[in-house]
Amino acid sequence: MFVSRIGRALSSQPVSLICRQCVCMMSTASPDGLYKLLDTGDNVGNSIPEAMFSLYNADAVCFDVDSTVINEEGIDALAEYLGKGEEVAELTKQAMDGDTKFQDALQMRLDIMKPSKSQIETLLDEQPLVLTDGVANLVKSLHEKNVDVWLVSGGFRIMIEPVAEILNIPTSHIVANQILFDDNGEYKGFDKDEPTSRDMGKPKALEQIKAKNCYETMVMVGDGATDAQAKPPAAAFIGFGGVVEREAVKEKADWFVLSFDDMTKIVRMRPN
Ligand SMILES: [Mg+2]
Repeated sequence: MFVSRIGRALSSQPVSLICRQCVCMMSTASPDGLYKLLDTGDNVGNSIPEAMFSLYNADAVCFDVDSTVINEEGIDALAEYLGKGEEVAELTKQAMDGDTKFQDALQMRLDIMKPSKSQIETLLDEQPLVLTDGVANLVKSLHEKNVDVWLVSGGFRIMIEPVAEILNIPTSHIVANQILFDDNGEYKGFDKDEPTSRDMGKPKALEQIKAKNCYETMVMVGDGATDAQAKPPAAAFIGFGGVVEREAVKEKADWFVLSFDDMTKIVRMRPN
């Protein structure tokens, strides 16, 4: 109640005063300080000040891709393109509800689609995946503050690489599933050694990323229950509901946002 009042009070202040307070916050940032500065009165989450503070201090932010960085599920878009939309959507739903092991669901969906390399390339050419509102701005702001950005996805690397390129994220910062093709570019299977091809793949992926890069504070952002599993090793899980609002994710999130702009405000307060 108290912090809500401060948030509303701040939002009614002249811009110059807010800016002075932001500058002050840069040198004395604290979880409660950030929360007081940014509270809109209707923030949702289990540990919002701490999540804001983790984002403020993060040396790496890991994003889920489907329904987070892009505004749809890439595998469903591929299935639709190949005329297997309904069959695959049902398996995707089962996988997300936890009724099927992730690796089994992935195998079944790929076995139905058997996508060739050229089919995927043609799809991406004709119907490029669309970025979610605000994500480009957030990623740019993170890069400007020298924060590493990673894409950690149960989707397919071949479909994510063009997205990463638009966002200036190096391919070395993508952890995703690798579809295997034969010499003629026909579907041959998928790489079962990728951590994201299995249940609990996201925490495993983040563990590997953290160990390899000696990150101290990682933040995971995503729309799904598998993203919430990434804490730990992530210091905070920020649930994203701008594409799909999932109650189960809202319940697990340290901070649940409907717009990436809320996160960008925190990032911009970081000292350079
Ligand atoms: Mg997702």
